[in-house]
Amino acid sequence: MAGLACAQVLAARKIAVSLFDKGRSPGGRMSSRRMATPLGEAVFDHGAQFITAATPAFAAQLRAWADAGVAAPWPAAGAGSWVGVPAMNAVPKFMAIGCDIALETQVRGMCRDAAGWYLVHEAGRAGSFDAMVVALPAEQAAAVLGLQNLPMARVAIGTPSTPCWTAMLAFGEAIPAPPVIRDRGIIAWAACNNSKPGRHGVHCWTIQASAGWSRRHLEAERDFVTASLREAFAEIVGLPGLATIAETSHRWRFALSGSAGSEAIWDPATQLGVCGDWLIGAGVENAWLSGRRLAELILTGVEQHHPQMRIGTAARLSR
Ligand SMILES: Cc1cc2nc3c(=O)[nH]c(=O)nc-3n(C[C@H](O)[C@H](O)[C@H](O)COP(=O)(O)OP(=O)(O)OC[C@H]3O[C@@H](n4cnc5c(N)ncnc54)[C@H](O)[C@@H]3O)c2cc1C
Repeated sequence: MAGLACAQVLAARKIAVSLFDKGRSPGGRMSSRRMATPLGEAVFDHGAQFITAATPAFAAQLRAWADAGVAAPWPAAGAGSWVGVPAMNAVPKFMAIGCDIALETQVRGMCRDAAGWYLVHEAGRAGSFDAMVVALPAEQAAAVLGLQNLPMARVAIGTPSTPCWTAMLAFGEAIPAPPVIRDRGIIAWAACNNSKPGRHGVHCWTIQASAGWSRRHLEAERDFVTASLREAFAEIVGLPGLATIAETSHRWRFALSGSAGSEAIWDPATQLGVCGDWLIGAGVENAWLSGRRLAELILTGVEQHHPQMRIGTAARLSR
């Protein structure tokens, strides 16, 4: 979200932006997971569960996504809650339309010479680029920032994230339970994906373990985690021995960010910037705000220090 939001603002000013993401499709922690079951495909939002807006700007953005058919209100999570339609990843996928994105590209690091920035990935390197933006969870940002900008890396290291083990459970029939269950024992959140707008088909639930349980079992086997969360869920809904038709778990090592108390960081001297939810605090809205703020800082720098760049025509951040 942060990287895409930043890219959108820059692209609107005709700056060429190249994005690199290790994922198979855009979305990061807003991704959705498909799972084959004997009754057909189940689709889970296994990262962000719902989106809220505290700022008028993001509220307007949510309405714009709704107009485009990729988001809709989901009152089950509370007033003012929205989700992607038909799945959470519809929003980042929509934002990515027209972007130059290299997917399944794991970034290993970056370096700089007189020509500009280069990005080092598994298959080689990309660049040069006039500027570089790091839009990763804090811990992963720290790893790539370390050799280039120690103060930025220090801020990232000082903003640790909370993990979240997430089970995805598919059932042969509907579970007689409220669509959202919060803070019950080791379960922080359980949501029936079918209760979200535009979802049909196999009955499936996303179950998130509490932060404490996730931390204690961070290195546990996936099957143990899935069984533990299934059993805890079965107990909560009063159906001991509840069986699934398909199930798995995902470990989000850096699920919910801390807050660095900043919006975005930009170093005009080296043309290096960092954005992400963790600059402001956990949540989709904060990632969006941080990405946009970084773009504004970059554009201010371009206008002040690179007047030869013809913003609005053919200025390029990448070349
Ligand atoms: C389980 C869970 C539940 C959540 N629930 C909610 C919720 O209900 N509401 C809410 O608002 N927020 C929720 N969040 C938080 C929300 O998802 C995040 O705040 C937001 O999506 C963060 O966006 P971002 O762009 O900052 O980071 P990310 O989405 O993490 O984006 C970072 C990107 O970097 C990529 N990447 C990482 N390392 C590399 C590398 N080495 N090379 C290349 N690419 C790399 C990743 O693939 C990813 O696409 C939840 C998160 C999780 C995990």
